[in-house]
Amino acid sequence: MQIVSTKKELQDLVKACKTEGKTIGLVPTMGALHQGHASLVKRAVEDNDICIVSVFVNPTQFNNKEDLAKYPRNIERDAQLLSSIGAHYVFAPTPEEMYSKEEMNSTFNFDFAGLDRVMEGKMRPGHFNGVVQVVSKLFYLTQPDKAYFGEKDFQQLAIIHHMVERSSMAGTFGHLQIIDCPIVREESGLALSSRNERLSAEEKETALAISKTLFESLKWAKMEGATVQAVQQRVIDTINAVPGLEVEYYEIVDQTTLLTTDTFNHAIGCVTVYCGPVRLIDNIKY
Ligand code: AMP
Repeated sequence: MQIVSTKKELQDLVKACKTEGKTIGLVPTMGALHQGHASLVKRAVEDNDICIVSVFVNPTQFNNKEDLAKYPRNIERDAQLLSSIGAHYVFAPTPEEMYSKEEMNSTFNFDFAGLDRVMEGKMRPGHFNGVVQVVSKLFYLTQPDKAYFGEKDFQQLAIIHHMVERSSMAGTFGHLQIIDCPIVREESGLALSSRNERLSAEEKETALAISKTLFESLKWAKMEGATVQAVQQRVIDTINAVPGLEVEYYEIVDQTTLLTTDTFNHAIGCVTVYCGPVRLIDNIKY
C-alpha cells in the first residue's frame, strides 16, 4: 500500500491505472478509522482492481471550529488498518494541498433540491456544501468507477446521490456508481463512529440508550394506532430521560425526499444526540 499526499501524485497514479484499464473504487473518509470504514474499504477492494481511500479531515464542512480541532486524527493507525484489509492507495493531503485560499473560503452554494434544508443541513449551515465540495474534488482527482458511502450518514448519502444523478456532474461522472453500505454497529448496538473515541467509558455506556431506543421504536411503530408523530416524540422523550443525553433532533422522514412523512412506509428516523460534549448521529429504517 502506498500513501500519497499530493494531488499530482494521485492524478499520476490514477492515469496509470486508467491506461492499464483498471477499475477504481474510492472510499472518502476523515480518518480515525474503525470497522465501519473498514466495511466500505473491504467492499471497494472486492469490487474493483484498485481501491483508493482518502483520509482528509475536511475543514470546509465544519461549522464549529472546536469540533474541527478536536476531531480525532491518527494516520499511522489508519494506514495499518487500511494495509491489513488490502487498500492499494491512501490519499492523505494537507488542507493547503487540497484547497487554494479562495476555495477554502468559498461560500458557493450547491442546489440540493431542499435535501440540505432539513436535519443536519438545518443544524449545520454550510455543512453539505463543504461535503460536496470535497467529494466532487475527490471524484475529479480519482475518476472512480464506484464510490462507497455509509448509511450511517444517511442525509449525506441522499445528497451525494442527488449530486451525481441530477446535477451537471452526471455528464462528468456519468459512469460513476454510488454504493450504499449498511451501518456497522458494536455488539451493544452503538453505531461505530470516529467521534466515539471522544467518549469516556461511562459516556459510551450512556450512549447505548440511543440505538436501544431506535430499535425499540420499531416495535412502537407496529403497535395498533401508532402514528409517526407519537413515535417520534416517544423516541425524543425516552432518550432525553437518560441523564447525560440530549436530543438535538429526531425526525422520521421519507427515505427519498427526506421530508416529514405521516406513514412508516419507506420511512427512516434520523437522530442527533449530544452525549456530554460529543455530537452523535444514528438512524433506523422503519
Ligand atoms: P467519516 O470518516 O465519518 O467521514 O466517514 C467516512 C465514510 O464512512 C462515510 O461514508 C460514512 O458514512 C462511513 N461510515 C462511518 N461510520 C460508519 C459505520 N458505523 N457504518 C458504516 N459506514 C460508516
